[in-house]
Amino acid sequence: MLRILRVVGSRSLTCGCFVGVYETYDGATVEIIEERDPRCFDRSHDEGHVTRPGQRPTERQREHVGA
Ligand SMILES: [Zn+2]
Repeated sequence: MLRILRVVGSRSLTCGCFVGVYETYDGATVEIIEERDPRCFDRSHDEGHVTRPGQRPTERQREHVGA
């Protein structure tokens, strides 16, 4: 279970999804999908899905950015 300490902010991912950035009690920062972009084809990006900043973008995401 993820324990959120506080909200840090929010930002858009390169795929177009909008995420909230949160600090957890263990000191890590996580991002949670707030709003899925209809153009995003990363099927893991469901609303409420937790991602972590600093993840290397996949090849498919890089192609998407250039499109
Ligand atoms: Zn996405």
